[in-house]
Amino acid sequence: MNQEQIELTIGWLYPTLMSTYGDRGNVICLQKRCEWRGYTVKILPLDQNATDADFHNVDMIVGGGAQDRQQEIVMRDLRGTKAAALRERIDNGTPGVFTCGAPQLLGHYYEPALGQRIEGLGLLDFVSVHPGANARRCIGNLVVEVTAKLLAQELAVFCGSPTYLIGFENHGGRTKLGQVEPLGRVVQGLGNNGEDGTEGAFYQNAIATYSHGPLLPKNPFVADWLIQTALRQKYQVPITLTPLEDPLAIQARQAMFQRLRVNVPTG
Ligand code: GLN
Repeated sequence: MNQEQIELTIGWLYPTLMSTYGDRGNVICLQKRCEWRGYTVKILPLDQNATDADFHNVDMIVGGGAQDRQQEIVMRDLRGTKAAALRERIDNGTPGVFTCGAPQLLGHYYEPALGQRIEGLGLLDFVSVHPGANARRCIGNLVVEVTAKLLAQELAVFCGSPTYLIGFENHGGRTKLGQVEPLGRVVQGLGNNGEDGTEGAFYQNAIATYSHGPLLPKNPFVADWLIQTALRQKYQVPITLTPLEDPLAIQARQAMFQRLRVNVPTG
């Protein structure tokens, strides 16, 4: 298939309300890696003005973090047919990356530091609770070994096995997983709750993580996995991405692993 004919639409959940700590970096990274390969990219905000049809027209979904107050506005807006449309897309394997506040709204509920519990979509089997305004936030660099089975297998093709992600977390909420598979195992940092060593979750092709928006620039092979999955879903043909040169990203990963004194193979 001709690269110029390829067109992908990135759905961006509530860009103005949900984009803390560089989360827009994930959108820019996906966009650029598509454009460098000659694909046409559209970015479609999935916000208060979005229609149900908009949710059906996207090929990938990106959701960022938010402070509790903004998160509450989003969670109250994302109900009814819009919620059903998002649920249907994720259930059917539309690839996506959801950071911090965004996964909290895909789970059963989020209890903010102040105020009432907010119901989520209940799509991913976990709950998130903020232990209160005086509790320590979970802040810092994060290194995670991907353990989600299918994702680990598919990422190994891009970057070898085991796969380590570098990230940065900043959250008050603590997430406890139910039956959903964790994204990975915390090598350094706090992850879902600072207690059970899990980080994030993986469901169908949705990546939920506490790692903020530099996640994809820091781990570009995850962006490529999302793009490849989106292409296979949309065009129903086995597409293999043309590799890109990523010397700066590779050097940045090596520098971070060194700085954090984490001894892992890099690539
Ligand atoms: N409000 C959520 C929390 O504190 C999410 C924060 C964020 O997205 N950075 O856990």
